Amino acid sequence: MLDDWSLKVLKELSESFGPAGFEREVAQKVKRYMEEYVDEILTDKLGSVIFVKKGSSDRPRVLLPGHIDEVGFVVSGIDDLGYVTFNPLGGWFDQVLLSQRVVIRTRKGDVYGVIAAKPPHLLTPEEAKKVVEKKNMFIDVGATSRKEAEEMGIRIGDPVVPYSPFMTVRDGKIAMGKAFDDRVGAFVAMAVVRRLKTENIQHPNTVYGAATVQEEVGLRGAGTVAHVVDPDVAIVLEVDIAGDVPGIKATEAPAKLGKGPSIITYDASMIPNQPLKEFVIEVAEKTGIPYQLSQVARGGTDAGRIHISRAGCPSIVIGVPTRHIHTHVGLFSLEDLENTVKLVVELVKRLDKKTVESFTAL
Ligand SMILES: [Zn+2]
Repeated sequence: MLDDWSLKVLKELSESFGPAGFEREVAQKVKRYMEEYVDEILTDKLGSVIFVKKGSSDRPRVLLPGHIDEVGFVVSGIDDLGYVTFNPLGGWFDQVLLSQRVVIRTRKGDVYGVIAAKPPHLLTPEEAKKVVEKKNMFIDVGATSRKEAEEMGIRIGDPVVPYSPFMTVRDGKIAMGKAFDDRVGAFVAMAVVRRLKTENIQHPNTVYGAATVQEEVGLRGAGTVAHVVDPDVAIVLEVDIAGDVPGIKATEAPAKLGKGPSIITYDASMIPNQPLKEFVIEVAEKTGIPYQLSQVARGGTDAGRIHISRAGCPSIVIGVPTRHIHTHVGLFSLEDLENTVKLVVELVKRLDKKTVESFTAL
């Protein structure tokens, strides 16, 4: 079971405000939480935080990144009646938006609103059959004029995220909330580094945990972090799309809740280094940690950028299977999270110079 520190940090990360390009609040929290467990905190100039835990050797450098940006919106305008229009930050499926509460962060403080559209009573039967598109939705903040909305502090360019409190269900086994993609990954990096420190675990390398920014808009922070760290190997920590959802075939998304961390064998942005993939599988089997082999036909991760940084970097993605990502409420198993942390700790313990060199040796 997760300890109190873990649950507190997880809840705080999930509820923090941080769409792509506006991650500072989350980055500051990561920094504050990690300071006592690390040897050094580094930053890039895009907003990412890197927390360094030295082992018995300077190299290999093991990069453990998780992105802290979440999918959100940015205010695109205010109409005469005070309704707020928006552009997406990251990929949204229009149908999950209607009737959802959001928070707009303004220079005068946070403003709450709800995403709405023309009500069903006023739609013609033809219109009612059609999907409402994002461009025809607006955020209702309770204003009755543009002036009122402006007086509340709202300006074009203000960031917006879902309002969705964190909670657990099924006797604390399952977490529900927003921004699990990918604060859960960032949490894994933090928990691994904390465990190395508090349990005084020896590791023949230097670990660079990283909270990266702007993944959802094109893996941007991963590029600058890879430049700063110059990693020898990267284990990118992510969520995986859980396929145990009605309408999804196992061949489309094989991972299931509660069956262990996903080892992603393929996604649209990267083919993992194969000896590294085999190493991860071997360590999971040797240590008795459950795992699932997975693949994601569309979409990419920070690894897409990191594995082609500089002269290349052997990389793999390990994900916590999560249902309903890119919506207001995702679900994942805390046992899967715990097993992901365990697996990454076991990997870090074994990533010595010889092993890492073998990933690229001919
Ligand atoms: Zn995402």
